[in-house]
Amino acid sequence: MRNDIRLYIYSDYPSTSLDTTYIVENLKQYGLHIEDRGNLLDFLSPTQEHIYKLARDLSSIQIPDIEIPHDDPNFTGRSEIENEVNKLLGDESVLGKFYDGFWMQRILYRLFSEKVSEEINNNNIHLILTGRLFGTFEDRRYHARVVLMGTPALISTSGLIEAPAKPREYYYVKGRLAQNGMDTSELDSMYKGRFVEYDDPKISSILLSYVLQVIAYEKTGEAFCDNPECCLSNSHWQEEVLKVQYEGVLCDKCAESMGSK
Ligand SMILES: [Zn+2]
Repeated sequence: MRNDIRLYIYSDYPSTSLDTTYIVENLKQYGLHIEDRGNLLDFLSPTQEHIYKLARDLSSIQIPDIEIPHDDPNFTGRSEIENEVNKLLGDESVLGKFYDGFWMQRILYRLFSEKVSEEINNNNIHLILTGRLFGTFEDRRYHARVVLMGTPALISTSGLIEAPAKPREYYYVKGRLAQNGMDTSELDSMYKGRFVEYDDPKISSILLSYVLQVIAYEKTGEAFCDNPECCLSNSHWQEEVLKVQYEGVLCDKCAESMGSK
């Protein structure tokens, strides 16, 4: 068990329902040193030239086709880069684009190693709460992800909505409606409460469990817990997330390794 870990939290315009202070306060019981560093871009304090370069890099790792792996950055036109500049500055929503998660991590790692190279080591976790949706390529296509371990660790509020699957019958009903040329817009209200929505007030409690997963991974080297009742388990369904991650209860084994017992 390691209690010498320092956790640095950043954000980049995640869901407006996300309360980082709530997460930081709740993490204090684990005896970590935690620092909320606020907006990522403010912290990095880049020059205009650096912002443009970052925007160019981010626009180059968008996924236009989920069935094609993104092996190399794909440099895009000026208008895409300007959209990214606006997203970085908070003038435009970060929603609606899908990024390659590992490339996003590489780009951000480079920025951190330039800004805080002395803090890149095993004692420090840099965690970014992002509104951007990212995925990883597995089984012949990209899958949206909530969390990506590593430096920096990434947790996506959009991933929380898009990655875990909705109830099976939701897809069935949606398919039938679409097949018959019927409107599917009412469907989300029919299934309300059975999946997490954008700006859902439950997001802060749920994300606390994902932050714990990142910390547990750094402490123990294990990504997920096998116990389906534990908030460190790997939920594939929205209904599991709404129960297990929302309640945020650790199993006895994880509680012990997290130092809360
Ligand atoms: Zn557990």
